[in-house]
Parts: sequence; C-alpha cells; structure tokens
Amino acid sequence: MLSTRIQNLSSSPTLSLNAKVKELQTHGQRVINLTAGEPDFDPPERLKQAVIQAVQDNYNHYTPVPGLLKLREAIAQKYQRENQIEYQPEEIIVSTGAKQVLYNALLTLVEPGDEVLTHLPTWSTYVEQIKLAGGTPVCIELKVPFKLTAETIAKKITKKTQALIINYPGNPTGAVIEPEELERIAELVVKRNLWVISDEIYEKILFDGGRHTSIASLGEEIKQRTLTVSGLSKSHAITGWRLGWGAGPKELIEGITKLQGQTTSGASSIVQQAAISAFAKSEEVNRMVREFESRRNYLVNELSQIKRLKITQPEGSFYLFVGVQELLNEKYPTSLDWCEGLLDTEQIAVVPGEAFLAPGYFRLSFAASLENLEKAVEGLRRFIKAGL
Ligand code: PLP
Repeated sequence: MLSTRIQNLSSSPTLSLNAKVKELQTHGQRVINLTAGEPDFDPPERLKQAVIQAVQDNYNHYTPVPGLLKLREAIAQKYQRENQIEYQPEEIIVSTGAKQVLYNALLTLVEPGDEVLTHLPTWSTYVEQIKLAGGTPVCIELKVPFKLTAETIAKKITKKTQALIINYPGNPTGAVIEPEELERIAELVVKRNLWVISDEIYEKILFDGGRHTSIASLGEEIKQRTLTVSGLSKSHAITGWRLGWGAGPKELIEGITKLQGQTTSGASSIVQQAAISAFAKSEEVNRMVREFESRRNYLVNELSQIKRLKITQPEGSFYLFVGVQELLNEKYPTSLDWCEGLLDTEQIAVVPGEAFLAPGYFRLSFAASLENLEKAVEGLRRFIKAGL
C-alpha cells in the first residue's frame, strides 16, 4: 500500500497529456501537439559548447550543495545587472530546476496546517507541492485578464497564512503583474508578515517591449521576505538539463541547503559548470522571444475572429489561455470533454483548463512551428463550426 501522501497526490496533467500525445504519434497518428511547456528551439550554441567543454575538463564530482560558487556569483551579477537586486552568493541556491527550488522552499517554510496563497488559474504543481509540505492551498480566483491584485490577496489572508506564491509572466495565462500593483502587493506582504515565493521562470519571455520587475527589487523589507525563483529551462531552452535557482535571505537559503543536502545534493556538475556562461547577452535568446511574439500575434489575430472563443492576449510566456465556455454543450459538457473531442476529431492536442484548476478554458502552447499553428487554427475553426 502506498502512503496517503502519494495517494492524495495528483500527477502532473501536462506531462501525462504530453505522454499520451507522444504515444499516439509513435503509433503513426499525426498529432499537432500544442501541450508543450517547453520551447521548441535548440539551446544557444555557446551553452552547448560549454557542456562539451565541462565533460572534457572532467567536472565529474559532487559540487557544493548550494551550487558552484562561480555559478552563484554569475547569478548574483545577473540580478544586479538585470533586476537591480543585490544578492550575495550565500543568498543563492542552485537546484535541479525551479520546480525543485519551489518544493524545497515550501518544505522549508510551511508547518502542517499553514495556509499558502496561490492563484487560479494556476500551475497545478504549486497546489500539489503545498499539500506535500503539509500546508493548505488557498486559491485566489482571477478573472479575465487574470491579473493578481493586492486587494484580492488581502481578502484571503488569515491568521494561518504563511506564504504567497506569485508567478509572472504566468503559466497558463501569460499575464504579468504591473510594477504599481507589485508595490501594493509588497506593502501588504510586509504588513501581514508573510513570505513571498516569486516564480519568475518566464521573466525573459516578455512581449511588446515589456520589462520585468522583480518584487524583491522594491525595497529591503520585501527583499527580506521573498524567495526569487528562476532558471534557464525556458529562457535557454534546456528544460531537460534541470537547472534552476532561488535567491533570498541567508537563513532561508541555509534551510533549503540543509534539505537539499539530504535529498538531491544539487544540480549536475556538468550543467552547473556550463551554466556559468549562460548569463551574457544572447542573440539566440532574443531571437526566440521575438519568434514567440510573432506567433502570439498571429494566434491572437486569427483566434479573435472566432466569435465564441474568448481570447486574452498574453503579455509573456508562450501560452494562450482560451475560454470555451460558450462552446460547451450536451456533447462536450466540460472543457476536458471539449479538448478530448478536439484531439479525437482534429488530432490537435491542447491542455484543458481543468489541469490549471480553471475549467471552461484550454491552454494552447505556441512553442510550436508557425506551420503547425496555422494547421491548428484551421482545425479549430472546423471543429467549432461542426459543433454549432
Ligand atoms: N514554474 C512554472 C510556472 C512553470 O511553468 C514551470 C515549467 O513548466 C516551472 C516552474 C519549472 O521549471 P524548471 O524546468 O526550472 O523546473
């Protein structure tokens, strides 16, 4: 018998859907897969060469648990240069992806029964990780255009609230939080003595000339209550290499380090060594973001013309979160049924809103070629027309 902990855990819906699509593909079906949570680009050439070099230079051994000092220094410099935050290397921990940092942080901060605030639609990992840490997830429901505000957060704070998780640009909505609202959120968090876990993994994938503001850059008080989480998975198209980090107050980082020392011991030595070179300006990263932006423009333009789809323009990330409430009927009563119908009829795979605890929507990832996106638009038009 497996533990109750595991019995109560939901498996990652996006990963399992992706597996289903891959299985269909191996059986010869031509599926347009728009479920991916990862860029469809290759990593920058310099980074690939750095990995090969690290192998040749025999970076084979255990690294310090919080990560190679040189890498933490490079991350500290990145924060100073790009995000206007001063972190010391001992205020940074490197882990096997941002996901690991988030989990470590929740285990380090949450006592059984503590409430942790997150938002809906949400990346379901937050909710599952809060539960694994013994906490109670409290979700703030966001309405279109899915902007988190201090006012909505304030309504959910109780005596048991320990932390708030924010994520911008967000998965699955691509929404960002404007600096003025971040100021209000920071003020509230400091006043109510909470922790903020700020997941900024999509910070580089911003459109329309948008600039990222880290909540920890808004003053010393909020910085002392924030764990800034990020990584290279999305910005450098290396989801499989597993490299992310957290930056925050020394005491918190020491706690996370203690936990990491007894679990994974840290990220791969080869990847860490290579990652030191990832922080210089990269034309390849810029090119990828521009390509995402032009795909977003194409999709928003085309799909906005389909009357019953509710489109909200994402400001970053590579996702479009689309409302299908007006298309649900007896045949497809839920967005989950609707997405299954789309897969069966048109061989187009998108992730139903249920995976983000937001039924009535689907998430379309535009980490896919324009050719496939064009086919998807055609298929969606046909599917919707046939269902009316
Ligand atoms: N945070 C968000 C919001 C994500 O969407 C993802 C990946 O889908 C992650 C974190 C995980 O990042 P990593 O690959 O660094 O673990």
